[in-house]
Amino acid sequence: MTPHETELTAETQTALERADAAHRHEALFSERAHNIRQSAVRDVFDISIRPGLVSLAGGSPSLTRLPLGLVAETAQRVIMDHGMEALHYGGGKGTLALRELICEIMAEEGILGASPEDVVVTTGSQSAQDIAAKVFCNPGDVVLAEDPTYVGALNTFEAYQVRVEPVGMDEDGLVPELLEARIAELEAAGATIKLLYTIPSFNNPSGITLAAERRQQIVDICREHNILVLEDNPYGMLRFDGKPLAPLRADNPDDVIYCGSFSKIFSPGVRLGWALVPKHLYRRFYLAAEAVVLCPSMLNQMLVTEFFHSFDWRAYLAESRAVYAERCAAMLHALGEHFPAEATWTTPSGGFFVWVTLPDGIDTYPLLHESIEAGVVFIPGAAFTPSDAPSSKLRLAFSGVAPEQIREGVRRLAPVVRAAVEA
Ligand code: PMP
Repeated sequence: MTPHETELTAETQTALERADAAHRHEALFSERAHNIRQSAVRDVFDISIRPGLVSLAGGSPSLTRLPLGLVAETAQRVIMDHGMEALHYGGGKGTLALRELICEIMAEEGILGASPEDVVVTTGSQSAQDIAAKVFCNPGDVVLAEDPTYVGALNTFEAYQVRVEPVGMDEDGLVPELLEARIAELEAAGATIKLLYTIPSFNNPSGITLAAERRQQIVDICREHNILVLEDNPYGMLRFDGKPLAPLRADNPDDVIYCGSFSKIFSPGVRLGWALVPKHLYRRFYLAAEAVVLCPSMLNQMLVTEFFHSFDWRAYLAESRAVYAERCAAMLHALGEHFPAEATWTTPSGGFFVWVTLPDGIDTYPLLHESIEAGVVFIPGAAFTPSDAPSSKLRLAFSGVAPEQIREGVRRLAPVVRAAVEA
């Protein structure tokens, strides 16, 4: 036997053993684990970005203006001055200093007087959603969500065997009458509705914002039906002009769990976000958080706290808003120039996304293949609904791509869209 043959045999042996283990362990999976799967349409997020491809797919923040020297200096200072603490375990709620900073940030967003005692630092907003699902939802319970909604939240809720029920939006966001009707219908069918998961400002994927005059109405409807509001607001501070709209949490401290994030205003890599939790729910919430992570990364918490204290984050956010506003304008202009008249799209006033609607009957998922051939990638609308039903919509992210690339991406996508419209 040559050495090459020996190697192959060993490899085959390993593969056979693994196949056997996989077969035996299949029976051990929880029911929940069977729900943790990505559908084909959601797999689009994993498309490898080949050189030359313009990606209008992922909603990445632009990090190019971050002062990396200052980040590095801060990291070094944190380690040299507070190394023993920074490299150690900490409390499950997060450090007091970071929770105080978070309250300052929320005040800027319009949540005044929040107490650090009501904040749980999390591993991003994504993990706050996971904790909420874990704390409130039994298999079969219903979570209401905007139609369309954030794909990551769908994946989280589905992992807890929750039924996500979409509620319609118009250009002013979630429609209160549709919410009431949906609740009535579900209650009549005996469903247990636990949460309304909502992204009121610059919804991912649609870019739509819930109008100020609807905000209290939505919370009141939920309160009446004993449904908690889970407000996810990672983009709230990225309004292109004017002040951010007051979050639903602002005037409703007992009925809304608010999720915030450092991912879009600073860095997704530090994996830090937070939940502002009503006092009467706080203990359960943070104990559940602690059960997963023990404590959020001390090093990253201290880095973020020190960094925010040592640079003008308000000015940085103002610059970020200008960058995203310019990118959004470039995308809207390019769409107007290149897309056929049959296509319509949203005009976001902040955030990362434009939502394009093609005529009924066109499924945007199969168009993806041709669009990749044409050198551009987007996310088909079906990814943002619980059913993954065919959708004539598509999400275009303008946040992480320079204006000239945005224009090029839209220019490449236009013939694919035109061909689908004319077919
Ligand atoms: N919620 C929404 C609406 C998002 O768009 C995202 C990220 N794309 C998240 C939550 C996840 O944020 P984080 O990085 O804070 O976990």
